[in-house]
Amino acid sequence: MGKILIIDDSVVQANYLKNILDEDHSITIVHTGDEGLSYAKTGKFSLILLDVIMPGMNGFMLLKKLQEELVTEHIPVILITGLSDTQSEEQGLILGAVDYIVKPFNPLIVKARVNTHIKLYRYRQQVEHMAMEDELTKVANRRHYDQYSIKQWQQAIRLHTSFSICMFDIDKFKVYNDTFGHPAGDRVIAAVAQTAKKYLKRSTDFIARYGGEEFVAITLGNTSEAAFNYFKRIRQAVEDLHIEHDASVSPWVTISMGGVTVFPKVGDNYDTYLKIADGMLYDAKRLSRNQVVWANERMVQWKERES
Ligand code: GH3
Ligand code: MG
Ligand code: MG
Repeated sequence: MGKILIIDDSVVQANYLKNILDEDHSITIVHTGDEGLSYAKTGKFSLILLDVIMPGMNGFMLLKKLQEELVTEHIPVILITGLSDTQSEEQGLILGAVDYIVKPFNPLIVKARVNTHIKLYRYRQQVEHMAMEDELTKVANRRHYDQYSIKQWQQAIRLHTSFSICMFDIDKFKVYNDTFGHPAGDRVIAAVAQTAKKYLKRSTDFIARYGGEEFVAITLGNTSEAAFNYFKRIRQAVEDLHIEHDASVSPWVTISMGGVTVFPKVGDNYDTYLKIADGMLYDAKRLSRNQVVWANERMVQWKERES
């Protein structure tokens, strides 16, 4: 079962295809290239069946546009057309169609090809998802973070929005491992990640495992004060899990957080600010641990506690 978009100027032809496929799939029909493009951009479809000859934007033109858009470039497109000359077929495949079906067609073959491409698309999405996720914690991994942080940094520059970076790290975790063992330590890392993730729910919020027991989070559009307060809540939420720590360290597992909020401008370097966040984390560790230290947009340092 997949969501299929049929783009065909012929009502008869589109309905014929729909009848073949709607037993197994959910079908949406549009009759122009322009409509097709805006529907495709919703990102809801796992396959597009595209007629080549249409008035206005034809199938080849539309295919080219789909290939240029980030949201649509990976959606498989099968071209359906009466053109039987091999030149058109070649052109379609070069433009990025995954398959080419010539009218008149055999309904069973259309069904089979559609099912194959939907399966492949899903498989690809799964693999991509796995490649971006940290296995232990189920939050984004370092690779995902590297891509996301740069993309969002550019976006924040364009949109003149604030950008907050928070690095955090579990306190005295080496002692935890020594006392409770590595597998128990792993469960703590996962619990901390999931607790933080619960708070980072907005579509532009992001959290990744940066390394061992260290995480990085990004939020957009907060004032320094809002970001500082927000991450204090997350720090508190981890403490409130009441995961027993080695008594020589503290009653519960805690984290230290360091962050910065900035309005990035053209020419500003992301790494400069990541280093500032890391510096704030260092100060949080140096003070008492279990606290948040933040640099506001004027680079004034705020501490949750003075000791
Ligand atoms: P601090 O409060 O200064 O952060 O002290 P710490 O002991 O947490 O810091 P340190 O960086 O010295 O030690 C981090 C420990 O985290 C060491 C390592 O054994 C543990 N660790 C790192 N990755 C993993 C992991 O994937 N699983 C487990 N169980 N432990 C990990
Ligand atoms: Mg640590
Ligand atoms: Mg560490």
